Amino acid sequence: MPDADVDVAIVGAGFAGLYMLHRLRGMGFRAQVLEAGSGVGGTWYWNRYPGARCDVESIQYSYQFDDDLQQEWEWSERYATQPELLRYAEHVADRFDLRRDIRFDTRVAAATFDEAGRRWVLETEAGDRVTGTWCVMATGCLSSFNTPDFPGRDSFDGATYHTGRWPHEGVDFSGRRVAVIGTGSSAIQSIPIIAEQAEHLTVFQRTANYTIPAHNTPLDPEAVRRVKADYPALRAWGKRMVNGIAFHPNPKPAGEATAEERRDVYERRWAEGGLTFMAAFGDLMLDDEANATAADFVRGKIREIVTDPETAGKLCPTNIIGCKRLCVDTGYYATYNRPNVTLVDISEAPIEAITPAGVKAQGVEHAVDAIVFATGFDAMTGALTRIDIRGAGGVRLRDKWRDGPRSYLGLAVAGFPNLFTVTGPGSPSVLTNMLPSIEQHVEWISDCFRYLRGRGIDRIEATVTAEDDWVAHNAEVAGNTLRSTCSSWYVGANVPGKPRVFMPYIGGFPAYVERCDAIAAKGYEGFALGA
Ligand code: FAD
Ligand code: NAP
Repeated sequence: MPDADVDVAIVGAGFAGLYMLHRLRGMGFRAQVLEAGSGVGGTWYWNRYPGARCDVESIQYSYQFDDDLQQEWEWSERYATQPELLRYAEHVADRFDLRRDIRFDTRVAAATFDEAGRRWVLETEAGDRVTGTWCVMATGCLSSFNTPDFPGRDSFDGATYHTGRWPHEGVDFSGRRVAVIGTGSSAIQSIPIIAEQAEHLTVFQRTANYTIPAHNTPLDPEAVRRVKADYPALRAWGKRMVNGIAFHPNPKPAGEATAEERRDVYERRWAEGGLTFMAAFGDLMLDDEANATAADFVRGKIREIVTDPETAGKLCPTNIIGCKRLCVDTGYYATYNRPNVTLVDISEAPIEAITPAGVKAQGVEHAVDAIVFATGFDAMTGALTRIDIRGAGGVRLRDKWRDGPRSYLGLAVAGFPNLFTVTGPGSPSVLTNMLPSIEQHVEWISDCFRYLRGRGIDRIEATVTAEDDWVAHNAEVAGNTLRSTCSSWYVGANVPGKPRVFMPYIGGFPAYVERCDAIAAKGYEGFALGA
C-alpha cells in the first residue's frame, strides 16, 4: 500500500466513517478511511451472530442526511436484521461511491501528532503510513470486543466464538452442546436461536438482565408510506427527545398513579415492546421507588413466562431496571422452558475455568462442544486506547485516560490537537439512537474543518479549562440519575481494572446539540485555534 497524505485521515468505515468521508468529499477535502475489516458497516460487519438486529426501529435507525436515500431505502421489518443493516451500509457506500477512498484490511496501530509538520501520522499494523492535517477517529463505541481472561481459556478442545467477531460463513450448532457466557443484549438476541439448533444449551449468567419483547413484525407498507410522506417531521421529533428517538414519553411520576393505573401503563408499554418501555413514567431513572414499580412488573412477567419457579427466580434481576442497557428480545425468557436449556447462575461464584472439555463453575464441569463468549466490549474507550495515540509532546492517550476518559464534548481531547472522535466518551452516543448522534458529530466536525480552512488555520485544540469544565458537568449530570449507580459497561465495570467513570453524556441529545452549536457559533469557544 503506498503511503498517502490527505487533508483528513479517518479511522473506521462504520456508519460514522462512511458519512464522514462523504461529507468531507462534498466540501472538497481529500480524505482517506482506514478500516480493519474487509468491508463497510462496522458493528453490522462484525456482529453476525444469530438473531443480531437493531433495537431502535429501523425507520429511525438510519441516516437522514440525504432525503433521496431515506426515501428510496425500504426496510422490511420493524427491527432490521444484521444482514439487512449490512446491505444498507453497503448500499450507502456504493450509492456515494465511497469505497475508492477506503483501505480495507488495514488496522491502525499508532497515530502520532507531528508538531513541526502539523500533521497526524497514522501507522498501520502492516507498517504503512497515512498522514493528514486532521485525524478523525470513527472507531466505534462498541467495536473493541472483550473476552475475559478465564483461567484455561485457550485450553478448550472445541470451537469458541465471540458474538462481536462472528464467522462470516455462519455457525451451525445442530447436534452440538453449546455454552453461552453472558446475558447482555447480544446473548439475549442469540440464545433463543442457538437453543432451537443446539442439542443442549447451557447459559452462564453473572447478572440477570431485564429485557422487553421486541414484537418484531414486517413493516406495514401503508405505515411506511405515511412516514415517508413527511420523514423530516419524524426526524425532527426524534431530535427533540433526550435519546434521539421519536417516542411518546409519559411525564407523570410513577408515584402519582394508582397501582392499577401503573399496571395498565406497563401492560400497554410491554405490549408495544421495545426500549420505550422506560418512558412509561417520567421518573423511572430518577427515583428508586418509581424504578422498583417497573422492575417489579418485569419480574412478574418473568415469573408468568418461565414455568420452573427456580429458574424464574434466577432470571429475575435485582438491580435497577434501565441502569444497565435495557435489552429487547424475541422469546428470550420462554427459551428457558425448553428441555434442552440449562441456566447456570454464577452471580455468587465466578466461572472457575475453561477446561479442555467445557466450562467449570461451582465445582461442576459442564461438558460442551462449543463456547460462545457473549461478553461484550471494552466500550467507548477500548477502540481508542488500543491504538497508540500520541498527542503534543508525545503524551499518550491511554496514559491521559488512565483514571478515566477526559474530553471536551466527547469530540476532542486537550493535548491532542487536530484530532476528533465521533461519539467519543463525554458525548450522548450510546444513550441515544446512534445514527442522529453520529450525524450530528460528523456535521459539527466537518463544519469546523471548513471554518478553519476558510481562515487559513491549521491547528485546533481543546483547552484544558474547557475539558475540565465539561468533565465536571458530565459527572454532575450523571450523578443526578440512577443510571450511574450499577456495574454496567457505561461505567467500565465489565472490564477488570478499568476506571469506574460514567462515560457517556447523560444530559440529553437536545441540550447537548444546543451546547455544541453555541460553541461553534462563538468561533469554537473552549478551543485554542492557530499556533
Ligand atoms: P462501528 O460501527 O463500531 O465502526 C467502527 C469501525 O472502526 C469498525 O468497522 C472497526 O473495524 C473500525 N476500527 C476500529 N478500530 C480500528 C483501527 N485501529 N484501525 C482500523 N479500523 C478500526 N445503536 C443503536 O443506536 N441502535 C441499535 O439498535 C444498536 N444495535 C447494536 C447492536 C450491536 C450488536 C452492537 C454491538 C451495537 C449496536 N448499536 C446500536 C451501537 C452501534 O455500534 C452504533 O449504532 C453504530 O453502528 C456505530 O457506528 P460507528 O461507525 O460509530 O462504529
Ligand atoms: P454486554 O451488555 O456488556 O453483556 C456482556 C455479558 O457478559 C453480561 O451479561 C456480563 O455480565 C457478561 N460477562 C462479562 N464478563 C464476564 C465474566 N468475566 N464472567 C461472566 N460473565 C461475564 O455486551 P453485549 O451483550 O455484547 O451488548 C453490548 C451493547 O451493545 C449493548 O448494551 C447494546 O448497547 C449493544 N447491543 C445492542 C443490541 C441490540 O439489541 N440492538 C444487541 C447487542 C448489543 P455482567 O452483566 O455481570 O457484567
